[in-house]
Amino acid sequence: MTNEEKVLKTFKEKFGQEPKYIVRAPGRVNLIGEHTDYNDGFVMPMAIERSIWIALRPRFDNLVKIYSVNNQEWGEFELANIEKESGWLEYIKGLAFYLQVAAYSLNAWEGVIYGDIPRGAGLSSSAALELVSARAFFEVSNFTWDAKEMALISQKVENDWLGLNSGIMDQLVVATAKKGFASVIDCRSLETKNYPIHNIAVVIMDTNTRRGLVDSKYNERFAQCQEAAKLLGIKTLRDISLKEFEEKTSLLSTLLEKRARHVISENERVIAATKALEKSDYKTFGQLMLASHKSLENDFEVSSKALNIMVDCALKQISCYGARMTGAGFGGCAVALVETKYIQDFSNAVRNLYYKQMNIHATVYISGAADGTKTVLF
Ligand code: ADP
Ligand code: MG
Repeated sequence: MTNEEKVLKTFKEKFGQEPKYIVRAPGRVNLIGEHTDYNDGFVMPMAIERSIWIALRPRFDNLVKIYSVNNQEWGEFELANIEKESGWLEYIKGLAFYLQVAAYSLNAWEGVIYGDIPRGAGLSSSAALELVSARAFFEVSNFTWDAKEMALISQKVENDWLGLNSGIMDQLVVATAKKGFASVIDCRSLETKNYPIHNIAVVIMDTNTRRGLVDSKYNERFAQCQEAAKLLGIKTLRDISLKEFEEKTSLLSTLLEKRARHVISENERVIAATKALEKSDYKTFGQLMLASHKSLENDFEVSSKALNIMVDCALKQISCYGARMTGAGFGGCAVALVETKYIQDFSNAVRNLYYKQMNIHATVYISGAADGTKTVLF
């Protein structure tokens, strides 16, 4: 049974009828450009085939009512009366709240939600949940779908409803991605350019480790980047080249220098990776991924033992062009670029090696670049 069939079937069980719509939003994997988005920098994510689906029908009162297949529980809230609590429903409530703040007039709906994106793994199940909810409101209300604006409103849920100072990358790629393409995003102008990903496999390797307090560490890095920019006399770390930076490092403490060096060098790596991708030069791309990992490990200090071991396991395979941790860090997933014809061998070898060293079973996902948020049945 496909996931779409699963929400359809559950909807019929819960509501005794066919849904009016099925909407879907994907997770994403970031190929390169980590912790640069909230510094107005560059990123290169792509949407993945794992997604969150909602099967729904309109309601003609004020109540939004949802059954979560993953959690096997109901959640509900009134559109006119949204208050902060905690749990999975917050993403949907927060989204409805900020849509209404932005003067969208919303209608209510009821439905079933199911997702197969691992949670808290750095594949942005949260952005998928925000955007799939936005799409559900879009279907039952009367407004036009502006993907960029939906991404910005979704980002508000993370920033203002949940208090995580994350950038726009996740929401923007989840909202706008095109099948077969990676998105290179300028997080200042929000300009997005699509680059075809072909003749190469993207392999996602979940360390199956999750760290607590990730949000507070994330916000700490955010604050350090802001502080570094201030001391350097620039608006954000986007506004300086690595060369200029090297002449100004005396303005910073050792710690802030390391944090800033990661972001500034990472921006340059994304630009270089874009050029490599244009030429299908995966060797160079792979080297940039490894440099990104080292910078995240040593300068930004957001990697972990499990992530470092996973990256090593991947790099030991001759079919692998490059690998790095992906997402916020401290656990979760790594990503590798692998020669397509060897993906099965690659995946098996990495799983075995990782298990030998960590005594943890890794989960490996192979995913093409998928479409962004859309309606799949209406
Ligand atoms: P990430 O975005 O890296 O996956 P987050 O901590 O930002 O991790 O978001 C994960 C949270 O999103 C989960 O704890 C849960 O509240 C919510 N979530 C994700 N997927 C689903 C789902 N299928 N159904 C309900 N809630 C979900
Ligand atoms: Mg998230």
